Amino acid sequence: MDKLFADELNNILKNDQIKYKEPMSRHTSLHIGGEADYMVLPSSVEQIRQVILLCKKHSMPYYVMGNGSNLLVSDLGYRGLILKLGENFSEITIEEDGIVKAQAGVLLSKLSHAIAENSLTGFEFAAGIPGTLGGAVTMNAGAYGGEMKQCLISATVIDSQGEIRVLDNEDLKLGYRSSILQNSDLCVLDATMKFSKGDKQEIKDKIRELNYLRQLKQPLDQYSAGSTFKRPEGYFAGKLICDAGLKGFQIGGAAVSEKHCGFLINKDNATARDFMALIKEVIRVVEEKFGVRLEPEVKFLGEFID
Ligand SMILES: Cc1cc2nc3c(=O)[nH]c(=O)nc-3n(C[C@H](O)[C@H](O)[C@H](O)COP(=O)(O)OP(=O)(O)OC[C@H]3O[C@@H](n4cnc5c(N)ncnc54)[C@H](O)[C@@H]3O)c2cc1C
Repeated sequence: MDKLFADELNNILKNDQIKYKEPMSRHTSLHIGGEADYMVLPSSVEQIRQVILLCKKHSMPYYVMGNGSNLLVSDLGYRGLILKLGENFSEITIEEDGIVKAQAGVLLSKLSHAIAENSLTGFEFAAGIPGTLGGAVTMNAGAYGGEMKQCLISATVIDSQGEIRVLDNEDLKLGYRSSILQNSDLCVLDATMKFSKGDKQEIKDKIRELNYLRQLKQPLDQYSAGSTFKRPEGYFAGKLICDAGLKGFQIGGAAVSEKHCGFLINKDNATARDFMALIKEVIRVVEEKFGVRLEPEVKFLGEFID
């Protein structure tokens, strides 16, 4: 541990906002991942800015995460600092005209229920996605015909120099599970969205219906990162994997879900190495059989050695 860095971190955050040698398996929906040298749980923009500037001063790499529901972290963990935006940073403001502004760490489930309570429609699709708003903007998360791009007006971001900017929907270049935020030094601080008035009961019924469909089709009782692969144009990843005979196929503790082949799961204490080997094997077999190359949707963090 870098004592000087740790001391300065302690001047920015309270004790319970800093974790050392934190197992990332505790923070990812896959329950996989070795230790991160540092993890911080900031509660204000100023704390985030100061942590970023401290990292810059000490040449300490940092990585921003939300709820870890789309992350495969190496067994070797992460050499640097994890900036985790979660519950501490999750305020929601709902205005009269359907404008909703929320901090990046709010969970989509909580946000969608607040939006529904205010009889606003257009966010029902997000209720069952187990991520934060920051992660959803970065991924342009979507489901059942909805995606962030449809409701997002703008996002406030901070870069690695500590500069804060507002990027509007177009600036973010939101595509299918993509945005300019991915592989950038930008951390989403908050997002502003717009929704229209609807019937509260209908909105709630829709959320219930979509969550029911998830229960029916997805292995929600298993550790996963959702659909491991993006949908290849003209195909469904799950169907290709199933048709390739890979249903239930297992490497170490990682397996192709029997319930939904598009979900690779941590079935039995999988390591990141098992999971990565399974991803590669699925890509190889599907390409060999159908000539379609699957592209992972899940994000990788840390070092992966073959
Ligand atoms: C059971 C299950 C079902 C799922 N269903 C869906 C679905 O229907 N649709 C869908 O799109 N996804 C789905 N996912 C995947 C995942 O929930 C989404 O990608 C979600 O948007 C990720 O949010 P997160 O907060 O967990 O991000 P993380 O997993 O923590 O991070 C994902 C990426 O976003 C970046 N990131 C996170 N927060 C920020 C921030 N504040 N600023 C900058 N970058 C940030 C990270 O660096 C990383 O690159 C599912 C996952 C699971 C486990």
